[in-house]
Amino acid sequence: MTNLGCRRRVIIAGGSVGGLFLGNLLVKSGWQVDIFERASDALVERGAGIAGHAELEPVLKTILGPEAELDRIDVEQRFAFDRTGRVVARHTYPQYLTSWNVLFGRIQKAFPASSYHSGIEVLDVVQGEGDATVSLSDGRRLSADLVVGADGVRSRIRAKLAPEVIPRYAQYVAWRGIIDDPSKLDPDLVELFSFCFPQGGQLIGYPLLGRDGQGGHRRYNFLWYYRVPAGRDLDDLLTDADGRRHEYAIPPPSIRQEHIEAFRKTAQKRLPPQFCDAVMCANRFMIQPIYDVQSERIVFGRIALIGDAAFVARPHVGIGVLKAALDAMSLTQCLDRNASISDALACYQSERLRPGLDAVQFGRYLGAFIERGLDGPTSDPELGLTYDFILRESARLPRASMASVGNIPNLVH
Ligand SMILES: Cc1cc2nc3c(=O)[nH]c(=O)nc-3n(C[C@H](O)[C@H](O)[C@H](O)COP(=O)(O)OP(=O)(O)OC[C@H]3O[C@@H](n4cnc5c(N)ncnc54)[C@H](O)[C@@H]3O)c2cc1C
Repeated sequence: MTNLGCRRRVIIAGGSVGGLFLGNLLVKSGWQVDIFERASDALVERGAGIAGHAELEPVLKTILGPEAELDRIDVEQRFAFDRTGRVVARHTYPQYLTSWNVLFGRIQKAFPASSYHSGIEVLDVVQGEGDATVSLSDGRRLSADLVVGADGVRSRIRAKLAPEVIPRYAQYVAWRGIIDDPSKLDPDLVELFSFCFPQGGQLIGYPLLGRDGQGGHRRYNFLWYYRVPAGRDLDDLLTDADGRRHEYAIPPPSIRQEHIEAFRKTAQKRLPPQFCDAVMCANRFMIQPIYDVQSERIVFGRIALIGDAAFVARPHVGIGVLKAALDAMSLTQCLDRNASISDALACYQSERLRPGLDAVQFGRYLGAFIERGLDGPTSDPELGLTYDFILRESARLPRASMASVGNIPNLVH
């Protein structure tokens, strides 16, 4: 087993946004940090548009400096369209949109490259007396004062420590489409953060920065939450032409052409013209099954969970990146404030358990009509999911008044 220097040391499993937020913050606090990331390819190529939030700014400024700003597109209003393309709701909510590659690229660049170990998987973690030890796929075993699972929805660390927490499929997927050249789309649509509610689902679309941030020409992307019950239909959708069943997401080149054609036919039947054009013009698709992950604990001795490893809230709340950042900030501040790591971890759990639970519950609520197979959000008035409500409350931190589980109609199906 390799020994450690005298600085406090943390090992982070997972080098996506959560791992990098935390890694950067702890380096600034004087910790010796090592991030192990299973993927060996460039994570910067993952993902598409990300809804920005004012609450993310303090974390970014701590990491990137007080003047730092992400390339962004500002949007002032949200619109909802009906099947004919007529506006049925609007809501003023100034917000910015950025992209995965811009955000990830910035926080990865800020982190010391020599401490970021890609292509190495954390295979196991074991608690010690006042430390924890990881086993790595390159054969090493390393101990640290603190081990953090930032290893996403299928967290191996969580599976070891809390095997009862199992991701729960929400009975629908997100079909994401990217339009690299939106010049053929309705120019108004391309500027808007907009919604529509095709039978049995929900679609949101918004502008996306060019591949090189502001330097590139603007793109457009949409997410269509599309009901696909677990079982044969889902298995078929996630199986590529070589017969391989993809588990968590099926990437663009692997989606079978027949599924893209069927998806486009459904778009012609169910979507307003401007969104139908977007589906027809999309040059890249990705399909991600939607899951809920709800943990009862996020601290286990000298091991903590952050980001999607701790909680996965459906993307209707649009705060996955923000939640990972706030988890990282809370853990860092608790470690700064408390001399004892155990006290710091207790502080972290008490700060971040409730917001995680609230986000999961609120995401379930916003997507309940799709999960239940209702025609639209207003089909069951008892849910209280009006178009105005959805426009107002999507893609933002659940407000305290909204998030409290007691205020949300019963979701038992
Ligand atoms: C359809 C969809 C749309 C979304 N839209 C938005 C949005 O608009 N805004 C937003 O904020 N969020 C959005 N999200 C959520 C967001 O992508 C996640 O919340 C965010 O990526 C969580 O970051 P993370 O670092 O916790 O986990 P992840 O990004 O999942 O990263 C986990 C990392 O751990 C690595 N890993 C896994 N196991 C191991 C191991 N054993 N050892 C080493 N490494 C390991 C993985 O390779 C991966 O890189 C969306 C999600 C979906 C599905």
